[in-house]
Amino acid sequence: MAAEGKLAVVPDQAPPMLKAPVEPAAQEHLRLLQGPFWQRMPAYAAVSEAEFLDHRWQAKHSITKIPKLLEALRGLVSDDFIKDAEAGFARAPMSVRVSPYLLSLIDWSRPYEDPLRLQFIPLASRLLPDHPNLDLDSLHEREDMPVPGLTHRYFDRALFLPLDTCPVYCRFCTRSYAVGIDTEEVAKFQLKVNAERWQQAFAYIRARPELEDIVISGGDVYQLRPEQITEIGETLLAMPNIRRFRYATKGLAVMPQKILTDDAWTDALTRVAEHGRALHKEVVIHTHFNHPREITWITEQATNKLFERGVIVRNQTVLQRGVNDTVPTMQLLVKRLAHVNVHPYYIYMHDLVKGVEDLRTTLQTGLDIEKGLRGLTSGFNTPLVVVDAPGGGGKRDAHSYEHYDRSTGISVYTSPNVHPGKLYFYFDPVDLLPAESQRRWRDPAQAAAMIDAARVAAAQPRAQP
Ligand code: SF4
Repeated sequence: MAAEGKLAVVPDQAPPMLKAPVEPAAQEHLRLLQGPFWQRMPAYAAVSEAEFLDHRWQAKHSITKIPKLLEALRGLVSDDFIKDAEAGFARAPMSVRVSPYLLSLIDWSRPYEDPLRLQFIPLASRLLPDHPNLDLDSLHEREDMPVPGLTHRYFDRALFLPLDTCPVYCRFCTRSYAVGIDTEEVAKFQLKVNAERWQQAFAYIRARPELEDIVISGGDVYQLRPEQITEIGETLLAMPNIRRFRYATKGLAVMPQKILTDDAWTDALTRVAEHGRALHKEVVIHTHFNHPREITWITEQATNKLFERGVIVRNQTVLQRGVNDTVPTMQLLVKRLAHVNVHPYYIYMHDLVKGVEDLRTTLQTGLDIEKGLRGLTSGFNTPLVVVDAPGGGGKRDAHSYEHYDRSTGISVYTSPNVHPGKLYFYFDPVDLLPAESQRRWRDPAQAAAMIDAARVAAAQPRAQP
């Protein structure tokens, strides 16, 4: 202790460390893929940085025909893999579109396990039978459409689908009932850009004073022309009832180049966001990264540009088996998103989507991941794990189930603000259940009995702690 009236002499040494030094692995989120990584692929070995950053080059060289994709992969993967992918596409509900950026992020030395390949290129050998309770529009978006392409489910917000095309097509798309062109498996519900349909949607939104919040999705707003971004944005901003809206695009994750080099598009979006701020209305982007490797130096440049312009970006991840279903992978994704100023907003339990049962996992996995994320970083950068209740219940906190039987894989939710009194059922993939439950799911009478039992259990009053 210092003698009274005298200042203590502070020795010239570092302050005591209460925590052990940080291991380099703990800061993995800072190490984004650098350099001309696309040149590792023979098809892009001679592509310069200027070309690769050009959004027109990316769009022009995006692969939309299966033979072309398989041709680009020849020499990189085995013939068996090519045959497997060919057969996989023949059974897929989604059409093909993959950007060169995305193809160059896949580790082609491990194509079977690669988490990006898994999301975009189906392999027949890995496909599983659909869950017995699956239907093509699992969220029942069409039931809540007062006009085609406008879903009004929640009290104060609506989902507007102005178009049905995307910069890439994902295997797991919830809207495979509408998005992309027809496949051998699915004839699509048409949601093309159409002035009359848009006007009907705008008239409905204008006529409903309770609507304050609009999600503009698709398809993907990346595919809208700049003047269409402006038309939708300014029309909504002019409505007194609208307080906020979000442009939804997967573009940042699959083609960040557009933000950097499509000045007309990025400027149109920025002007709407700035006009919104002047009117005290919120205009943001919602995007869709699923794996930390999808975030590169190019992404960082794109998100920096949006951040400098004051455009907020939030992310919605889909929990997928083999892609991001472990705590370390999801931790890395969350930290990396925060690093590039993208708010990790939601992690969705995978919807029951046709042809992608191999990508779904159990609700328990989602609950475990939530536990592994909470406290990792600030609360506003910690995503909420949600189940988008099949049958139109909307998003439910994954923990808020009324009942969850881990052996039958059935969880039951209610949605008091959407349909009071109605029960919604979510189903774990059958192949991850105990053998006895798998056997019961194969028998329709037993399956119905399991669902009835879950319905009864969900209605029981919960024990008070
Ligand atoms: S970008 Fe979105 S809407 Fe388009 S296919 Fe992928 S998940 Fe579906």
